[in-house]
This record gives sequence, structure tokens and C-alpha cells, in this order.
Amino acid sequence: MIRNHNTSFKKLFRQVLLLQLCLFYSIAAYSWGFFAHKRINHLAIFTLPPKLNGLYKRHIHAIENLAVLPDQRRHSLDEEAARHYIDLDRYLIKSIAYLNFEKAIQLYTNDSLQRHGIVPWIIPTMKNRLKQAFFNRDTLQIIKLSSELGHYIADAHVPLHTTSNYDGQKSNQVGIHAFWESVIPEMLQSDLEDWSAPAQYIADLQKETWNWILSSHSLVEILLSLEAKLNQKTNARSKYIFIKKGTLLTKTYAPAYTKAYHQSLNNQIETRFNEAVQHVGNVWYSAWLEAGQPDFK
Ligand SMILES: [Zn+2]
Repeated sequence: MIRNHNTSFKKLFRQVLLLQLCLFYSIAAYSWGFFAHKRINHLAIFTLPPKLNGLYKRHIHAIENLAVLPDQRRHSLDEEAARHYIDLDRYLIKSIAYLNFEKAIQLYTNDSLQRHGIVPWIIPTMKNRLKQAFFNRDTLQIIKLSSELGHYIADAHVPLHTTSNYDGQKSNQVGIHAFWESVIPEMLQSDLEDWSAPAQYIADLQKETWNWILSSHSLVEILLSLEAKLNQKTNARSKYIFIKKGTLLTKTYAPAYTKAYHQSLNNQIETRFNEAVQHVGNVWYSAWLEAGQPDFK
């Protein structure tokens, strides 16, 4: 039996919508923008097998809307921020890569891990919670946890979530975070959508999560240097434009500069986006499989 949680869903939605209105302008620089997070969760549903995807399709709007809840919570929950990133440049990578949380605490202490981000470990933790929700056939929790898990997995695919120079503040490129993960995805829209394979089981999620993060981190240098090069050969006046958002004038990257940067990245954003979609589907599927494949048709 699937439990009916309509009232709880409505309540949750109202909270989310209110938060979205209040925080729209302040969260853009934290992670994939609203558009991409919602889209990644939406597309991941279509990687799932029929026994499972009926449940997700019935709650497709919730899966999209709740995709941005973890960013909104950052303002009200102290421990939330650390879940979205890891500053790998603060560590000797070969010493920290592939550690689980317990081993990492022994080596670096919890305080230091929290300071530099815990995205490699929140993903397996959330997946275990999702597995438990599947065991309990708790629809509200399945949808909420799946959405939030989708958010953290998506963040792990953003190169600038793996460095302390997350917004180019150390290389005189402030604004590059939202440029890469919000401005360009919003420009690309449906071009981002590629074919995804049916979800596959992940036997070792801790290891797999590290693979995604290390692959993100390997792109940091190139995405920064390509923007620095483009900036050098662009007249300062043609780099930005001002657009009106409501009554406010907002500074943003000019369309020609955005297109030139996107072209120089050579599908980097599309590739990370599509991998995020596939991996979100894989993790949801794995939690369901380990919970004994409850039928939600
Ligand atoms: Zn985030």
C-alpha cells in the first residue's frame, strides 16, 4: 500500500514556495541553479524501471521542487552548508580520496571535515536513509529524500564545488560559479538533455561518489584558465550587461561572452549535467533494489 500524504505534501510545498520566493536572488551562487537542479531530478526519473518510476512520476512536481530545498535550508540550518562541497585543495588528495567518513574523521577530525565540506559522505548517508524509507514504504520520505539526494549528487558533479576557490575569488574571477552552473545551463535549456541509460546498480556508493568528485575536481583548472584567457582578450565593456529583474538592475555576463565561454568549454557543462542525471537515477535505483524492490506501479 502506498500511503496517502497529500496534506503533508501540500504543507511541504507551501513552505518550499515561500522559501523560493524569499531566497531566489541569494542562492544562485551556491550550486547548480534552480533550473538545473530541478531538471536533473526530473530527467533522472526516466532512467528508472516501470516497477519504480510510477511512484516518481506521480510526484514529479515534488521531485523537482524539493530539489532546491537543501540550498534553501542553508540559511536556517548551520550544518547544511558543508553538505554541498569539499575543498579538495585543502588536502593531500591521495590521502583523503576514497576514505569513508569514519576513517576521514580519524585522520582529520570532524571539525576540520565540516569546515572544508562533506559532500563525499552525505551522499552514502542519504542513500541509506532512502533505503530505509523504501523498506517502510514511506512515500513522503521517499520523495523528499530522493529529491535532496538528487541535489547533493548534482552538486558533486560541479567542479567548483570541489575547491576553496569556489567562486574564482582567489583568481580574480568572482562570479564564475553562477556563470558555469546557472547562466550557461539556463542559456542551453533543452540542449542539455541527452539520452540516459536505464539506471544501474551501484555496489560501492562511497567509491563511486569519490569517482564523481575527483572527476569534477580534475576540471577546475581548465574551466578557470579558459575563462581567464577569454577575459584577457575581451574588452571590459563587452564582458557584462545590465538586465532589469523586477525593479532592480542586475549585472550579468553578456550573451556573446557567455556563448564564447561555453564554446571554449567544449561540452564540459553538458557532460557533467548528463552524468549527474544518470548517477541520480542509479542511486535512487540502488536504494530501492537493496530495500527488496517494493512494487509502486
Ligand atoms: Zn547545493
